[in-house]
Amino acid sequence: MMRQYQLVELVRGYDPGADEDALNRAYVFSMKAHGSQQRASGDSYFSHPVEVAGILSDKKLDTASIVTGLLHDTVEDTIATLEDIEELFGPEISRLVDGVTKLSRLELQGDESRQAENFRKLLLAMSEDIRVLLVKLADRLHNMRTLGYIEDDEKRRAIARETMDIYAPLAERIGIRDWKEELEGLAFAELNPDARASIVNRLEFLRERGVVVVGRVLDELRQTLADEGLEAEVSGREKTPYSIWRKMQRQNIVFEQLSDIMAFRVVVDSVEDCYRALGIIHGRYRVIPGRFKDYISIAKPNGYRSLHTGVMGPENQRIEVQIRNREMHEIAELGVAAHWQYKQETRPTEGTEYRWLRELLEILEHTAGPEEFLEHTKLEMFIDQVFCFSPKGDLYALPQGATPVDFAYAVHTDIGNTCVAAKINGRLMPLRTRLRNGNQVEISTSKAQTPSPTWESFVVTGKARACIRRFVRSQEAEQYANLGREIVEKTFRRNAYELTRKAILGVLKKFGLGSPDELYAAVGSARLTGRDVLAAVYPGVKDKERQQKVVSIAEARQGKGETDHAVPITGLIPGMAVHFASCCHPLPGDRIVGIVSTGKGVTIHTIDCDALESFADMPEQWLDVSWEADPRYPRMHVARIHVILANEPGSLGTLSTVIGRDGGNISNLKITNRSEDFFEMQIDIEVADIKQLTNIIAALRATSVINAVERARG
Ligand code: MN
Repeated sequence: MMRQYQLVELVRGYDPGADEDALNRAYVFSMKAHGSQQRASGDSYFSHPVEVAGILSDKKLDTASIVTGLLHDTVEDTIATLEDIEELFGPEISRLVDGVTKLSRLELQGDESRQAENFRKLLLAMSEDIRVLLVKLADRLHNMRTLGYIEDDEKRRAIARETMDIYAPLAERIGIRDWKEELEGLAFAELNPDARASIVNRLEFLRERGVVVVGRVLDELRQTLADEGLEAEVSGREKTPYSIWRKMQRQNIVFEQLSDIMAFRVVVDSVEDCYRALGIIHGRYRVIPGRFKDYISIAKPNGYRSLHTGVMGPENQRIEVQIRNREMHEIAELGVAAHWQYKQETRPTEGTEYRWLRELLEILEHTAGPEEFLEHTKLEMFIDQVFCFSPKGDLYALPQGATPVDFAYAVHTDIGNTCVAAKINGRLMPLRTRLRNGNQVEISTSKAQTPSPTWESFVVTGKARACIRRFVRSQEAEQYANLGREIVEKTFRRNAYELTRKAILGVLKKFGLGSPDELYAAVGSARLTGRDVLAAVYPGVKDKERQQKVVSIAEARQGKGETDHAVPITGLIPGMAVHFASCCHPLPGDRIVGIVSTGKGVTIHTIDCDALESFADMPEQWLDVSWEADPRYPRMHVARIHVILANEPGSLGTLSTVIGRDGGNISNLKITNRSEDFFEMQIDIEVADIKQLTNIIAALRATSVINAVERARG
């Protein structure tokens, strides 16, 4: 295990400005905190954070990262708290340690790869500071190096699976190829030891026979190109057992046929030089037929460009050579890194999606100092998405701004349609709350619930919106049909005709409609009137009502309306076929009248509403309606009152107390006038019916700070 002074020297070696004191204190703090804890290997637990710090120092990371590496398990596994860390090491370190701790607490449920994709994104999104992710990856790398000490087979495999699915791609994603390959290699050894062993053996055999000779081939390739005066960077390597295995899987070939155990890459300055290099190589070595691919003239769909060829190279070995210029090289590196993005439904928009990654790679490769590296690497990638969990731990990726209703629909349409409440991280929150990364969302449902048209104003997912619309539309049609049927029935009854299904079926054609429901819906939405239907069934009928119905407003107000013919508005959902007028705010118990207008359904006014004057000469629009209590749908209605209130301390409090005592809920409050002595206010109160409002008004009138109360009219 690395000693304290060794670690400090190592860090100071690449970062002379490193905070030696912090490193020393973290080393000691972690050692004391972990005390006599042991690893599965029998080593002291403390050796683990020290190794993690060492892995991080290989990448020349800053003091804060190394310190975080030393402390990363103290909060989770010892009695040390985040507060201790903050007090001793300051807010930056405590934030980083907290970040790593949170990542460690996230566990992938099951090994479904469907979730692996989202999980990777979650990790990225939650590592607001890339150093959190780097520490997490170093942690995983050391755990993988010591995986063999874990005795439980299943646990070992689960960790390896997770490494393969989640952490290796993440390491690749942020451009740390050697971590990626090591993670993959270690996971492969655990998950498929037989396949790996046979590949390793075969490689060993080939090496012994002098077949795998990367160094010698490399030298000769460089010399060959230089002889022709071409400037090129040539690199080469033996492929890893895992990548060989992947290739065998992908191409369904056996090991003996695999020709590119060694891969070489030639990077030149221009496109012309690419073809020149190809010419030189093909001129010098024998080409293996069928292996040449020109991805420069025809790029791969993901933008990858290069020349690929296979030749019998130096030492008479089959080798694969990729030739590209610097620009293509960069895109290729990013293309690989961005590859899993392409498989997602997220469209790759030109350049923008992995711009940060490009910058990150550049910084990693050309970094002058750790500060510069860290300054530039905030993870901004997935700000357009939030990731939330169900209580079971299933992960859902939703667009930014998504609400519990979106979440509910994402889980299942039925859950969305019946959701009544949401708990976010255990707390009851409004359905319109914007969800945040890592939220756990629990949806309560009720069979009595139906999607509310108001949900449409705050949901952001297409699925939620479509479901709500579909429901609202079907409800609307049903509401209009119900209302229309009532109207037609009343019209027939008033004129002493019997309404039969046969009669209705007989006139459908005349109106160009397909079903009785369509006909009723047409009446309900006022595209047809009840009298239109009556006249169609009994041509020549003199509509008694026509003469009779020309009632004056005065008459109506005197109560001469035929209430037994009134259409009950029971069960109609406000906002669809029925609207309550905002001028007079009718309440159950008020005498009301409906005004029918095309496409809007019925607007309910109180019989004394001033707005009715403008419909005085349009009797065909008047509809006799009545309240009918329906205990299945207890519904609150908004009443509006005007209040004049003394302008003195506590008067507003008194006012709301009085209203609340009678069960009224203030939904809106507007001060319309304010003087030294008085407030004039308009208050909207949710009440069940006229009786409740009357009680509230009476109570208000009895209150000393209130000078006047009136119900708002028209
Ligand atoms: Mn750890």
